Amino acid sequence: METKVCIIGAGPGGACAALQLAQLGISCIVVDKAVFPRDKVCGDGLSGKVLTILERIDKGIGQRLQQAAFKMDSWGVTFVAPNRIGMDIPYRLDYQNNRNDPRGFVCKRIDFDNFLVEELKRRPEIRLFEGVSIDKYELKEDGYHLSDKEGKFQVKADLVLVANGAHSSFTKDVAGIKMEPEHYVAGIRAYYKGISNLNPDGFIELHFLKSMLPGYFWVFPLPNGEANVGVGILSSVTRNKKVNLKKLMLDTLATDPVMKERFKDSTLIGNIEGYGLPLGSKKRKLHGERYMLIGDAGYLIDPFTGEGIGNALYSGQIAARQAAAAIAANDFSDSFLDAYDLDVYRILGPELEVSTKLQKLIKYPWLFNLLMKMGSRNKQLKDLMSCMFHEVDLRKKLGNPMFYVKLLFNR
Ligand SMILES: Cc1cc2nc3c(=O)[nH]c(=O)nc-3n(C[C@H](O)[C@H](O)[C@H](O)COP(=O)(O)OP(=O)(O)OC[C@H]3O[C@@H](n4cnc5c(N)ncnc54)[C@H](O)[C@@H]3O)c2cc1C
Repeated sequence: METKVCIIGAGPGGACAALQLAQLGISCIVVDKAVFPRDKVCGDGLSGKVLTILERIDKGIGQRLQQAAFKMDSWGVTFVAPNRIGMDIPYRLDYQNNRNDPRGFVCKRIDFDNFLVEELKRRPEIRLFEGVSIDKYELKEDGYHLSDKEGKFQVKADLVLVANGAHSSFTKDVAGIKMEPEHYVAGIRAYYKGISNLNPDGFIELHFLKSMLPGYFWVFPLPNGEANVGVGILSSVTRNKKVNLKKLMLDTLATDPVMKERFKDSTLIGNIEGYGLPLGSKKRKLHGERYMLIGDAGYLIDPFTGEGIGNALYSGQIAARQAAAAIAANDFSDSFLDAYDLDVYRILGPELEVSTKLQKLIKYPWLFNLLMKMGSRNKQLKDLMSCMFHEVDLRKKLGNPMFYVKLLFNR
């Protein structure tokens, strides 16, 4: 088979690239080693970015997602500092009077990713191959020659969009990006039913417990009284301190005074599963001759929040646009694709930089404690933090030590 564009991976990043290409009238082949619906270990939290990008590609996709029954609307975040002072921060200040347009959701990836794959199947421009793993890739004069291990499935592409996630061998072997423990998080996730005191407005909970810094423990409410519960900690810390994440989480649920009470009537559904989070706390080269890296394959996860779905979608859309430009110019060279990195880092870079600074600040629990203590008493500071969800410039303030100095002196 031959194609202008082959996308490896039909997760959020690959699916978004394919949908954007289709919208631009460009056909492509998408290959995924899994057969959908398939699970993906994740916190299942979808930020406002997800709907924004999907609506930008096609308003209809956004509407269908809004109507889907498998998701829980989420109106904000509860941050809990190491001193256990918590603060509820809504995504928008007027949410109690304006219930029509939730921007955040929690939904199991088995459902969300299948929703996107169903969208791929609606488009005649997209040929989707499921249950096929691309294991060989050879760059020749006339394009990339891709195939499975046995060579039963073969495709030649002018351009390859690599969206095969955190364990991408293409990223390692061709792009030369290696896993660095200080830019990588180890995460586990479990589903529980029957946890008490879940927020009725679907606020997601991030608990920065002392035993887990600079990582956190989360509880994300799902429909049907279930919740996604997990822990993510920097791999350099888990390695140095020999942390067993599963044991740490189960011990926390059994012994922490607050969690012990909230989980006492809960049931674990299925297994506790783990997976890696490649962080965007370091700038990397995301392209080469005839290829671009998307989403986790390009290490684009937010280092503070652990959010990667939104950034996978953004990079997928940018890569599709760059692919269209490359096809129009008939130029698939390394230098022509420089524009991809420029766009990704122009759009996502400022946010990644701020989050890298914030990730470093949570090493200082006293600072976090202080911020929460003040925020819980000071409405202005709380409102400012709400606005930070939309304004990167405002979030920059949080990454700047002077912000805290001013706060201290203005108390
Ligand atoms: C514990 C944990 C919690 C997380 N919580 C959140 C959260 O709450 N919110 C959030 O936004 N992000 C979260 N993330 C990050 C998020 O899961 C990822 O950023 C997101 O899945 C990236 O999407 P992607 O399309 O790049 O890759 P994936 O979603 O990993 O998709 C890659 C696809 O490629 C396919 N594939 C792999 N290898 C091959 C191959 N050789 N050939 C063909 N196909 C292949 C796979 O089957 C898969 O379908 C979390 C991650 C973890 C591990």
